[in-house]
Amino acid sequence: STAASAAYEEPITPPVSVSHTQLLINGQFVDSASGKTFPTLDPRTAEVIAHVAEAESEDVNRAVAAARKAFDEGPWPRMTAYERSRIMLRFADLVEKNTNEIAALETWDNGKTYEQAIGEVEVLTRLFRYYAGWADKIHGLTVPADGSYHVQTLHEPIGVAGQIIPWNFPLLMFAWKVGPALACGNSIVLKTAEQTPLSALYVGNLFLEAGLPPGVLNIISGFGPSAGAALCSHMDVDKLAFTGSTATGKTVLALAAASNLKPVTLELGGKSPFIVCEDADVDKAVELAHFALFFNQGQCCCAGSRTFVHERVYDEFLEKAKARALERVVGDPFKKGVEQGPQIDKEQFAKILNYIKSGVESGATLEAGGERFGSKGFYVQPTVFSGVQDNMLIAQDEIFGPVQSILKFKDLNEVIKRANATSFGLAAGIFTQNIDVANTLTRAIKAGTIFVNCFDVFDAAIPFGGYKQSGQGREKGIYSLNNYLQVKAVVTPLKNP
Ligand code: ADP
Repeated sequence: STAASAAYEEPITPPVSVSHTQLLINGQFVDSASGKTFPTLDPRTAEVIAHVAEAESEDVNRAVAAARKAFDEGPWPRMTAYERSRIMLRFADLVEKNTNEIAALETWDNGKTYEQAIGEVEVLTRLFRYYAGWADKIHGLTVPADGSYHVQTLHEPIGVAGQIIPWNFPLLMFAWKVGPALACGNSIVLKTAEQTPLSALYVGNLFLEAGLPPGVLNIISGFGPSAGAALCSHMDVDKLAFTGSTATGKTVLALAAASNLKPVTLELGGKSPFIVCEDADVDKAVELAHFALFFNQGQCCCAGSRTFVHERVYDEFLEKAKARALERVVGDPFKKGVEQGPQIDKEQFAKILNYIKSGVESGATLEAGGERFGSKGFYVQPTVFSGVQDNMLIAQDEIFGPVQSILKFKDLNEVIKRANATSFGLAAGIFTQNIDVANTLTRAIKAGTIFVNCFDVFDAAIPFGGYKQSGQGREKGIYSLNNYLQVKAVVTPLKNP
């Protein structure tokens, strides 16, 4: 966008100062009860950026108690919807004012390019304005019932929402979770991912500045099995929203069920097909398929990680996809023109290199990349495999890295079957100018989002979520409001019907 390029004239490179490293509980930045901290690393170098307070179950208890009090006694659910909306709008203004600094912090902690981080701050700002708009438009219905009754529904906030987010899009995940929960009048305990705690703390402080009452939004840094599990099991948390891996999502759901049966929204993994049809303009298809997979270092739950190409255009596509990957500019994400920064951490870096090894061993053809990039940090070369078969691990598992797997297909029925032969169902890409083909594929593919001749469009109003083991429920848009509301039916006999 123009704003992003304008802001890019003077890139801020680290060290930006890290202003907030403690836990945000009850409107205050505080140390953890144990005094423990953990380091968060710069993925470009593996050097420590800062030590942040580490929440454990005692801190979760404190944060939930603050959220409970803010909900039960505090002003938040009792404020007028208009006042809540105003606070959210003020927050969005403050974020906008600090866009460059927030983006720099995000690039530093996550490794994504600065230009992309700027775009993400803009998306966050936009999303809070969108949900601020909803705050005073949430209301129930008057329901016609048999007999002489006056029946109405009240749409009430659920209460204390526990929210657990991943590291790949820390600010977007913050926005998708916090925006609708606040618009509906809930209070929140949000746990960030241990790899990327910094940006949420920074914007959490802006919420205080915007006038959010203490305890309404509590933000804790910490690890999954300790802080995360404690939040999932907590008897005083009324609702959970989780984004992360399918395996962890199952744990979260089990903990919720075993404690107080709190409802859970899950946004989990994917292995999304990107289908290039026989009529494709190959140059355009290559560019979009490249973007669908390599965007954000391949660390997208909806990444187009199975590139199905029709046999008629396969050879040309492959040559050009390989060339595009070899051209991809890898390097310091603060530098202008760099397209790909480092992976998030050592574990992911090692996991991706293992998948590449498995691709080679299983007989796929390595067309480009295949190794680490440079000698420090967690950079991986843009990698392309051709001749990938459905039963290979690289065609089945979520790799979460810059590894494109290209598969050949002959006809539509075949590609529909193969595209759906996965336990995931998050997204799909379709590339064709043929409206009938597009309509057929759109209806046949079991996924929560179908991108036709585009990919990774994430406007605030577009719902996002998964079929099958890619999740439960939808986030963003009008759909996300339901996640954070109770419906109460009120039935009153009419005296003079
Ligand atoms: P990844 O493997 O990509 O880090 P995870 O699903 O493990 O994905 O992590 C996503 C989020 O879930 C992070 O905030 C992490 O701390 C949290 N998490 C991990 N394990 C658990 C758990 N057992 N209970 C609750 N949250 C968890």
